[in-house]
Amino acid sequence: MSKTIFVSNRLPTTIRQADSGLQFTPSIGGLATGLGSVHQAGTSLWLGWCGLTSENVSEKERRELCRRLPREYASIPVFLSETEMEHYYYGFCNRTVWPLFHYFNNYAEYLHPDWECYRTVNRKFFDSIVEILGDQDTVWVHDYQLMLLPAMIREKFPRTKIGFFLHIPFPSFEIFRLLPWRSQLLQGLLGSDLIGFHTYDYVRHFLSSVRRLLGYEHNLGYINLRRRLVKADVFPMGIDYKRYQAAHRQPEVKAEMAQIAEKTVGLRLVLSVDRLDYTKGIPERIKAFSQFLRENPQYREKTTMVLIVAPSRTEVSAYHELLKEVQELVGDTNGEHGTIGWTPIWFFYRSFDFEHLTALYALADVLLVTPLRDGMNLVAKEYVATRTNYKGMLVISETAGAASELGEAVIVNANNIEEVAAGIKTALEMDDQEKIARNQAMHRRLAHYNVEFWAQDFLRKLATVEEQQRISASKKVDAKVEAKLLEAAEKPGDRLFLLDYDGTVMGFSNQPQNGRPTDELRELLHRLSEDRRNQVLVVSGRDRADLEKWFGDLRLNLVAAHGLWIRESDSDWERPEIVSDQWKETIRPLLELHTARTPGAVVEDKDHSMAWHYQRCEPELAAVRVRELKDALEDLTGNLNLGLVSGNQMLEIKDTTMNKGRAAARWLVGREWNFIFAVGDDWTEDELFSLLPDEAFSVKVGIGMSHAHYRVESVEDVRRLLHKLAAACSQSNLNP
Ligand code: UDP
Repeated sequence: MSKTIFVSNRLPTTIRQADSGLQFTPSIGGLATGLGSVHQAGTSLWLGWCGLTSENVSEKERRELCRRLPREYASIPVFLSETEMEHYYYGFCNRTVWPLFHYFNNYAEYLHPDWECYRTVNRKFFDSIVEILGDQDTVWVHDYQLMLLPAMIREKFPRTKIGFFLHIPFPSFEIFRLLPWRSQLLQGLLGSDLIGFHTYDYVRHFLSSVRRLLGYEHNLGYINLRRRLVKADVFPMGIDYKRYQAAHRQPEVKAEMAQIAEKTVGLRLVLSVDRLDYTKGIPERIKAFSQFLRENPQYREKTTMVLIVAPSRTEVSAYHELLKEVQELVGDTNGEHGTIGWTPIWFFYRSFDFEHLTALYALADVLLVTPLRDGMNLVAKEYVATRTNYKGMLVISETAGAASELGEAVIVNANNIEEVAAGIKTALEMDDQEKIARNQAMHRRLAHYNVEFWAQDFLRKLATVEEQQRISASKKVDAKVEAKLLEAAEKPGDRLFLLDYDGTVMGFSNQPQNGRPTDELRELLHRLSEDRRNQVLVVSGRDRADLEKWFGDLRLNLVAAHGLWIRESDSDWERPEIVSDQWKETIRPLLELHTARTPGAVVEDKDHSMAWHYQRCEPELAAVRVRELKDALEDLTGNLNLGLVSGNQMLEIKDTTMNKGRAAARWLVGREWNFIFAVGDDWTEDELFSLLPDEAFSVKVGIGMSHAHYRVESVEDVRRLLHKLAAACSQSNLNP
């Protein structure tokens, strides 16, 4: 039976070493809850660090963990040493990736031993997975601690379905590029089939980094790695909505609420809840509250901020300094505004449990969530869900992922102290009717896209990505297909070879004016075409002058300029259709203007088409310019009977009466072939594939939607195949 393996840095079970032995407590954090329903169904395993370092676990305890965790919690422990925790967890994860991905690049350290250890620990997780992974299993890897893992799994298990979810932001390319190991991290992630992010902005940033650092193009979130497609998509993580919505009915929560209410009579509460982290903007928030009191003296003695800061990552020095700063600011604020009977900020440096936290959520007039950067922020969602009488109001900064779903909240810029101060006032003074309307809208969204839905949505999408890959990838030319192909080619009779040029028999070059065939290619085409039973047709969008120069002396049939010029072997060039190219003068100024504005762009003037090449341009700029150019050309081309064709890193404007398929038709219509082989790499060949009889062998280079029956991965594969076909043809001539 197939199963799902969840992999995260920590297991969702907390283990304590008590005098009486090991104690296990299941976690009730977001991830554990979200995956809980799937995990409890008994068809999954969870793999992660057990929370104790190897040095602190006796042999006996280790045996107990390895026995009880799988049996009682469907979990597999990974053991990490103190040194690994230092370099991998506190080091690369929390002193490199965490600050950088949250735009705190001044805090990021780039230490080689940390990076090495990160790789080692990812490998350690991989080794544990190998022991439990079955043929049909799905693996879902979580978060920034394990970004190299998907590629490690993919390399060894190419057919395994792998999902990855990043719980923190993915930064813009300008930030991500600072990382010395940026390409390795991207390659690691691209081992997945599906990569999930909290917001669309993170997806965009990721796709942009993939394109700019690795050169892989994407379309509708599908990244084309040539061998595979990888989908990047948005899955905003939700909360356990029902648990929070029902919290105020729990007796413990009710009792806590009554106590708080009694002690805060006449006070309005502004709540703030975070882990201690420099990304959370806690100092800025305290300053904003102080500013609010300064500007609005009428709220003094009537409003108190409850500031909960849960200790976190105490081993990282940046956190010590932050704690000191927070303590000082609380002191300053209370010193400046406090009175004998009133403390403006109640500061708690400790973690609150569910009952105490939700009691505060249920009573707070305002929740102030103003991180400078936060992947999602669950506290914001929990507050909205708990406040079931809709009388509270959330103030949230636009740099928290949750802000993109909670648009009805008061949205502020966390760096703008005045704006946050004004936001507190707006929230406190908002009339009930408006608060109810805004909260109701947010509740509907949170109830629907809850954490369970999130997990299932991701897993559903992971299943369909595989389906999509199957549809878009025609059958690979494997040993069996190859044998069938060679056997067919060996049969006596006439054979037709239809070969696209650029990207098919010849690799792409950075300069369109290059692309001259290698001696090996010329020799191969010569060998194929000297056989009198073969007709070899080189089909290209290039000018006839190029094809003539390169192949004029060979017995090849040539189709140039997408079918505008044709040369049958043993005869001269001819133009099958006469078309005026007056239109070129109309569009030339437009192409030249865009070329001048886009460094690296080149206009190519072809026989009856024009191409705007952007291989050598900065990709983001080129993408913008191509869109602009297409817009500008659209009206013109409609009037002039022209078509726009997006090729590989180029936009071609051509006469729509021309295409490669039509040109090739003269070899297909009314002629008998015992064997037809056609190969091409982009959709201009697809016109040709669609005209071929069923028994023809049509092959696409790379993946993507196509009419071709088969696919190969690269130009080298095409060449290898053609060499074998040439040998098969000679063989057949020896044994007619
Ligand atoms: N939390 C808690 N007690 C505390 C502070 C926070 O249980 O004293 C929980 C809170 O309910 C939330 C989580 O910790 O579920 C924090 O998640 P969030 O996404 O807001 O921030 P993160 O810590 O993941 O950066």
